Amino acid sequence: MSDVIASRLAGFGTTIFTEMSALAERTGAVNLGQGFPDEDGPAEVLEAATAAMRDGWNQYAPLAGVPALRAAIAAHQERFYGLSVDPDAGVQVTFGATEAIAAAMLGLLEPGDEVVVFEPLYDSYGASIAMAGAVRRVVTLRPHNPTGKVFSRAELEAVAEVVREHDLVAVTDEVYEHLVYEGSHVPLATLEGMADRTLTISSLGKTFSVTGWKIGWATGPPELVGAVRAAKQFLSFAGGTPLQVAGAAALAMDDVFYARLASSFAAKRDRLCDGLRAAGLEPLPVAGTYFVNAMVEGDGVEFCRALPERAGVVAIPTAVFYDDPDVGRSLVRFAFCKRDAVIDEAVARLVAGGRTSAG
Ligand code: GLN
Repeated sequence: MSDVIASRLAGFGTTIFTEMSALAERTGAVNLGQGFPDEDGPAEVLEAATAAMRDGWNQYAPLAGVPALRAAIAAHQERFYGLSVDPDAGVQVTFGATEAIAAAMLGLLEPGDEVVVFEPLYDSYGASIAMAGAVRRVVTLRPHNPTGKVFSRAELEAVAEVVREHDLVAVTDEVYEHLVYEGSHVPLATLEGMADRTLTISSLGKTFSVTGWKIGWATGPPELVGAVRAAKQFLSFAGGTPLQVAGAAALAMDDVFYARLASSFAAKRDRLCDGLRAAGLEPLPVAGTYFVNAMVEGDGVEFCRALPERAGVVAIPTAVFYDDPDVGRSLVRFAFCKRDAVIDEAVARLVAGGRTSAG
């Protein structure tokens, strides 16, 4: 059989993260490609999950999500941002932020609708828009993944102005909300007139180092959350029940936890940036996320394909996040959410690997 994949998905292929993690497995290279921590999250969060499993939280969750988690999500929005969210009609728990994004596109868009997205573009956005039969219009605005940028309030205000002026709906991906090292995270929904027209998406994965749990959520006005729910019920229905219970405990962690999280990742950022410089690569500034981009000589895709053999390290070519790959041609993304010893090993290999060019 040939050409069985629907044309909507033609051209998306296998994600760069899957390809590069497989390459790391095959070659034994240090994987600074796909962004996932190599240490477990807080012990009490893991314990809460196993306790929930032992306590019988093993069947479907309610469609909207386990009530305790929805209450914790609403409390989190209030605690950190002063946002008031209805834990029933205003919260939908999803299979990670990725499903929330897909469900938002499927639930909100008509075929042919236009979605304005910021480039460089995280891969699932384009695919979700395509699955909904909608059209994307790309605007260069450097969002947090892969660039490590954190939007200032003034920049967000400019975005909000366009959204209000044209009576648009905003969908925001805020999964790195607690990994901010310069400035602070400002949810678009907190800006004037935006709470009623913004769907805010986040997850447990990055904040609690549990990317494999795939517990995410969308919050916002009931109409927008209802659209996510309408699609989500037919995608994966409702599961991950014990992990949802643990998520409630996780979000309630004290301020010390959240502060330490950011300072520990900031230290890793500095460690990797220093190492990249020592290896002759120039890192770009990182205000948030656990990614740093570095300029390489020549083509980043070729550089990343050759790097495992040449130096025993895997990274992600940033060009894949652009519609016009030439724009990000010489940028390469490295993840620093790794143990210090792993970062040091990667740096030693990059230094020994010597050259910054693909040759
Ligand atoms: N969000 C992760 C990253 O940017 C990857 C997630 C995935 O593999 N799809 O590296």
